Amino acid sequence: MAEIKTIGILTSGGDAPGMNAAIRAVTRSAIYSGLNVKGIYRGYRGLIADEIVDFHTQNVSNIIQMGGTILKTARCKEFQTPEGRQLAYDVMQRHKIDALVVIGGDGSLTGARIFANEFNFPIIGLPGTIDNDLYGTDSTIGYDTALNTIMQCVDKIRDTATSHERLFFIEVMGRDAGFLALNGAIASGAEAAIIPEISTQVDQLAELIQNGFRKSKNSSIVLVAESPVTGGAMGLAERVKNEYPGYDVRVSILGHLQRGGSPTAYDRILASRMGAAAIDALMDDQRNVMIGIKNDEIVYVPFTRAIKKEKPINRDLLETLRRLSI
Ligand code: ADP
Repeated sequence: MAEIKTIGILTSGGDAPGMNAAIRAVTRSAIYSGLNVKGIYRGYRGLIADEIVDFHTQNVSNIIQMGGTILKTARCKEFQTPEGRQLAYDVMQRHKIDALVVIGGDGSLTGARIFANEFNFPIIGLPGTIDNDLYGTDSTIGYDTALNTIMQCVDKIRDTATSHERLFFIEVMGRDAGFLALNGAIASGAEAAIIPEISTQVDQLAELIQNGFRKSKNSSIVLVAESPVTGGAMGLAERVKNEYPGYDVRVSILGHLQRGGSPTAYDRILASRMGAAAIDALMDDQRNVMIGIKNDEIVYVPFTRAIKKEKPINRDLLETLRRLSI
């Protein structure tokens, strides 16, 4: 395999706390291993537009604690066309970039996989998404921070919910995966979670409401994953208001709050380990894999598996939530 001398790094798709810690780890590990590093701004869009600068250790100083991404992120339709990807390849050739590290979610890694196959170009992916919806890794960069943010928000909403004896539907992100809603519900002591993986959850909610949430409870909180199917927290709240007028129902949509903030220690450590592992992987001639973490060990997950396989929700967690909400 051709020797790798220069790597490019970019962040793409939805931003997630911990992406900066990952950029720092990739940059410093690469420099430590004698490689040159090029920072590519605004994801694939910036790659095509040649928004590329040399990165040195000082470019990534003082960023480990920052949310968002210093490289900015973007969505890029052009990269979904062969012509757009050809332009991206030409730009990388001009900059003598021999390999790419892509930090992003499902979409970004899908783009990476297609590009890598088309041009036989070495790419390593890092799972950067708050949704935790990538197969082959116990956690993605940003998930733990978002979960903690949700927990803190629900704790605050609980104060007002209890004072007014209300039923709150709180909408969280994760239209395809219920990790945030389910674990957020357990962490904040919520009564129920409505997640996309289990369509019968809505019926169970109706049952819960018909039977009346336990009378001694001052407030009830249901975490709802955003969803075009259920209509999210708004849709469910409307149904409950119509069908059970006795309840004082309120809705809170956490929205972009969930993406922001300083990453937790867990996410910083995860991003640092994964960033270092990306360079190890390239040095070990690994190609087209996502770095994952399984039982606290770094693993390499082929792109195809990471993207295409559905990551199952742990059903024991549902049972735990049900038991603890009596
Ligand atoms: P995320 O990575 O957070 O899932 P998106 O789904 O928006 O975010 O994907 C980010 C970018 O990845 C897209 O704007 C596009 O440039 C690229 N991408 C996504 N899917 C494909 C695809 N099928 N082919 C090529 N590029 C893709």
